[in-house]
Amino acid sequence: MRKSYYLGAALGLFALGLPSAFWLVSAADPAATVRAYDVPLEKDADFLTGYVPARTTLSNLFENHMIQRADTPALVASISAAMDVRRMRAGQPYTIDRLLDGRVRRFEYEIDRDRRLTVSRASSEGAPRFLTAIERIPKETTVVAVEGAMTRETSSLIAALDASGEGLALALGIADVFSGEIDFNSDLQPGDSFRVLVERHTREGKPAGYGAILAGEIVNMDRKIRAIRFTPDGGSPAYYDENGRSLKRFFLKSPLKFEPRITSRFSSSRKHPILGYARAHNGVDYYAPAGAPVGAVAPGVVTLAGWTSGGGRTVKVRHNNGYETEYLHLSAISVRAGARVGQGELVGRVGQTGLATGVHLHYGMKKHGRYVNPVIEHRNMPPGEPIAPTLMTVFTSDRDRYLQLMFKPTQSRATNDN
Ligand SMILES: [Zn+2]
Repeated sequence: MRKSYYLGAALGLFALGLPSAFWLVSAADPAATVRAYDVPLEKDADFLTGYVPARTTLSNLFENHMIQRADTPALVASISAAMDVRRMRAGQPYTIDRLLDGRVRRFEYEIDRDRRLTVSRASSEGAPRFLTAIERIPKETTVVAVEGAMTRETSSLIAALDASGEGLALALGIADVFSGEIDFNSDLQPGDSFRVLVERHTREGKPAGYGAILAGEIVNMDRKIRAIRFTPDGGSPAYYDENGRSLKRFFLKSPLKFEPRITSRFSSSRKHPILGYARAHNGVDYYAPAGAPVGAVAPGVVTLAGWTSGGGRTVKVRHNNGYETEYLHLSAISVRAGARVGQGELVGRVGQTGLATGVHLHYGMKKHGRYVNPVIEHRNMPPGEPIAPTLMTVFTSDRDRYLQLMFKPTQSRATNDN
């Protein structure tokens, strides 16, 4: 909009027949010209912006902006021809370029992050006619470094990121990268810190989510864990430590995506608080909200998916190397016995079925038929597969570039624009 006004102003000056010498001077210093000689153009339109309100119709929307009545049916018809108007979502931004007589010159509606509907008046004379188009909103991607720290107030990754204005999606992304190494609730302590190098998308200057995390570092007590994204030939992208060993272990650290809090530990002889005699607790209890997704900790085959007494809705999965894992008290089961599941794949949702005093996940692990402590088993797992020697040169050059960018001081602060 503004651009066309300036263009108009420049043409206006020419039309006034100002001496060409003046124009040469002004061309050398356009800002000065504007300040001294800017002729305000007669206003011919109002530029209205807003967000689609809840429970409204297109006709109402135009009515609320005092659009000329004759325009509305033609506008609604053109828009309906271009998109399903029932899919217009409350909260999405729109703009109306409304002529002073109340006719619409242009209407724009942001369908989603990627697409925008544009409606423009076909001609200024005669019955209202509109041309519609759906445009792709260009996306720009920059690579930014984001850092944060755990404090007493921001003791979780989400809280620390919120404090730095970076959003939930990024927290989940980071948790995903390090899930084999860190238990995001019980491991992180005040004083711990993290840093990631991540692709950030913007659309026309506005934040539009994150892309891949290219590298990351978590300092947890005296441990420093680094992750580098790398795609082996013909494979899919994965994360590796600085020496090129996969961060993906045979087991995930826990079946829950994020922040599981252990409410009851594994014990081969736990003294029952009421009955008074020792009774084993064949697994780990995690507090998690009802409905939270539960993933298989390793690839395997579902051996049981159904009701067990005590366990309620239960899923059991058999893995390689003589391991079996079980997930109890689920509110819903998402797999069938005999199905093959991948690491992290959804098997059910957290609930309170069977003998459970509250909503939680009981996660058990057997090794060669005997219950073992999954937390200890995980700790003892060797690191994952190394990158093939032939790819190490490529990996190390990626790694060095990412680490250098991640620690570049000029962009190390998280911005607060999300
Ligand atoms: Zn339990």
